[in-house]
Amino acid sequence: MNKPKKLEFYHWADKAADNIIKVKGSKSKYILAAGITPSGTIHMGNFREIITQELVKRALESRKKKVRFIYSWDDYDVFRKVPKNMPKQEELQKQLRKSISDIPDPFGCHKSYAEHNEAEIEEDVPKVGIETEFIRQSLLYRKGTYDKEIKHALEHTKEIKEILDKYRKEPLKDGWLPIAMFCPKCGKDTIKSLKWLKDYDIEYECQCGQKEKINFKGKGFVKLLWRIDWPMRWHYYNEDFESAGKDHFAAGGSVDTARQIQKAVWKTESPIGFPYEWISIKGGQQFASSAGIVITLKEMLEIYQPEIIRYLFASTRPNAEFAISFDADVIKIYEDFDRCERIHYGIDQASDKEKQKQSRIYELSAVDKISKKIPLQWSFRHLTTILQIHQLDINKTIGFYEKEIKNKEDKQRLHQRAVCAKNWLEKHAPKDFKFTVQDQPPKLKLDPKIKKAIHELAKKLKERDWTDVELHNEIYIITQNLDIKPQDFFKAAYQTLVNKERGPRLASFILQIGKDQVIELFEKV
Ligand SMILES: [Zn+2]
Repeated sequence: MNKPKKLEFYHWADKAADNIIKVKGSKSKYILAAGITPSGTIHMGNFREIITQELVKRALESRKKKVRFIYSWDDYDVFRKVPKNMPKQEELQKQLRKSISDIPDPFGCHKSYAEHNEAEIEEDVPKVGIETEFIRQSLLYRKGTYDKEIKHALEHTKEIKEILDKYRKEPLKDGWLPIAMFCPKCGKDTIKSLKWLKDYDIEYECQCGQKEKINFKGKGFVKLLWRIDWPMRWHYYNEDFESAGKDHFAAGGSVDTARQIQKAVWKTESPIGFPYEWISIKGGQQFASSAGIVITLKEMLEIYQPEIIRYLFASTRPNAEFAISFDADVIKIYEDFDRCERIHYGIDQASDKEKQKQSRIYELSAVDKISKKIPLQWSFRHLTTILQIHQLDINKTIGFYEKEIKNKEDKQRLHQRAVCAKNWLEKHAPKDFKFTVQDQPPKLKLDPKIKKAIHELAKKLKERDWTDVELHNEIYIITQNLDIKPQDFFKAAYQTLVNKERGPRLASFILQIGKDQVIELFEKV
């Protein structure tokens, strides 16, 4: 009888899930949360926030636990800076200091600036298999949902101030309050003076001249400052887990103070969580929405299949920085994923530990249910060759693989990968990767012996059908017989076919192009 194999690999998402259960105890449902301020284009750096919680959610679910995954749009934040990649810069400048949910969409297609930034990713996130509950904090604040909590925080101003002051060089001023507000008249947060009178009563004066004593209950213009807003929501939603970017985790950082504030003010337990690292673009800079240096999930989905996007994050520890590649590494990433898949299905051999590791990464990368049998794998590299032979025509490329396609799923998968490969060739592939099969051979000054070898190969191609191994050997026989260097022959052959000195492996390349077309080109040399 086989003994069960000892678990040698422990995925970080599994570790986090076990830790949540250990610390929070047995619960009917665990609450996971993520949050982003949509102050600019939502990019892949922000996506790490979503996918980190998502992978932990998956790990909890594989332990048969129920999970609620809430995703907060912190869109009641103030608009501080106009990102460089936004249109209508001047008009946006005039909107600074308002809530980002009150600013008109500069693209003109959504209700607000915030909503425009939210919409794209809300549409794309389900494509990578993420189900989350999106919450627009601006709507809740406006409805007065948190008014009671705001009053509660005001009543604990002293304790909050003491916690924050521990980490400040200059203590917060007397009269400091844990709240901010948008002026009901001008919509900006340009408040000169703000006093809390009692309960829901405040007195304020705005730079615009607006000045009044008012009861804020149900009015929706008062909000908590960020460092208090965060623990309030941890409390309000009874959160169990929320990780965040590493900047939040410094000593005295927002996580540190939020934990203390939640305990002191709301007397409830904080969620656990860990920091995640930044990601960047290979050969480029770190993502920064204010500078407009962004790659969106939509752009990623043009190049990478959804499961491969998940794979990138599932196969990297959250505390490791990594760069997203669009260069020739894309091919390697596809090959790595295919290998991971083969190891999962036991096709490729690996040590027990490696098998456990790759298998778990594969499960966490899956967008849909994992099939019992390994799906057909279409080599990304091969696809780039076939696509280029067929002038990047997707249907013709799929046609090339016709005999291998067994069912609808095969065809869908091939189609999806072919579209990604085509996008990659058009937008990112390095120059030496690209070629065009010529209609006419370019004018070449060739050594007569090499010319003869090219004609000889055309003759051989006409004689019969070849496998690529046979053809490969035949090429060497021809060059030997004519006493020419193989590399000189290859150079001339590639020049004839694609007007470049290099190309994909010649024998298989000739067969992929189709021998009739190659014979025609070779004979014209
Ligand atoms: Zn005002």
